Amino acid sequence: MLMKRRAEAAHGDVCLYADRALARYGFPDGHPLGVDRQGAFLEEARRSALGANVRLCDSRLATRAEIARFHSQDYIDRVMHAEQDRLAFLDNGDTPVFPGVYEASASVVGAALNGLSRIMRAEFSRSFQPIGGLHHAGRNHAAGFCVFNDLGVVIETLRARYGIRRVAYVDIDVHHGDGVFYAYEADAELIFADIHEDGRTLYPGTGSEEETGKGAAQGTKLNIALAPGAGDAQFMAAWPRVEAHLAKFAPEFVIFQCGADGLRGDPLAHLTYSPAVHTHATRSLRLVAERFAKDRMMAFGGGGYDRNNLAQAWAAVLRELAG
Ligand SMILES: [Zn+2]
Repeated sequence: MLMKRRAEAAHGDVCLYADRALARYGFPDGHPLGVDRQGAFLEEARRSALGANVRLCDSRLATRAEIARFHSQDYIDRVMHAEQDRLAFLDNGDTPVFPGVYEASASVVGAALNGLSRIMRAEFSRSFQPIGGLHHAGRNHAAGFCVFNDLGVVIETLRARYGIRRVAYVDIDVHHGDGVFYAYEADAELIFADIHEDGRTLYPGTGSEEETGKGAAQGTKLNIALAPGAGDAQFMAAWPRVEAHLAKFAPEFVIFQCGADGLRGDPLAHLTYSPAVHTHATRSLRLVAERFAKDRMMAFGGGGYDRNNLAQAWAAVLRELAG
């Protein structure tokens, strides 16, 4: 049979977002989040992870109305006019304004929304977007290299457009996903699990294990803080708590922020993971998505500042998503 039916073609297929527009999201002058990260990943992906069921998909610009599903109008204006207003930074010094900052940031969101709509139309089961997962941006502010929070826009779009409310957000970036956590701290339908380096030794300083959600949302949020120096053994020991947490709430959709900055040697953090962590977490979350979420899962690269580390970790994620 030469042609597969669409339903068969979709099973196991992965949409990879890694185009020129996305590569422009990065900061100049030796900033750790430079514009060369996507290329470093692609070089390794071509070598080891681009199987037959991985398709390269094109990003698009998100509209202002789409970005406003998560962000305030005032903040969108601030980013839109940042160059014209000659702002040096969008925050207190981590997130510089760069040429084309609005368009690059809107492309990150637009790629995520394109992936979401293709998954919801069952063209693909899963997506991976290395340049994305900007988990520090809040509804009204930039933070920690993150301008627009693509993850928050996806969560809001799942609710507004698709009527899917019980969403799992899982974050293994070395930094706590504060932009997502605090936006949904009192929201019982956002099932949150985040393993990160202890906030007492690392930006943004939040994500203690006592932070489990507020009000009706108490118990829907899981924060696991690892001590500096912790590696694969500590991660693997903690991961079953993530699995149990997710199973308890049977999420209808899985969002995975797979930052690579927890790997040994990252210049900004102090954990010592190997890419085996990314392999293990992706494999496990695929099973969660298959069991509860009709196989629907989106993965986003997030942080990672050693180029070889991010290439290895994200190639591992892509292999597991596509395998
Ligand atoms: Zn990070």
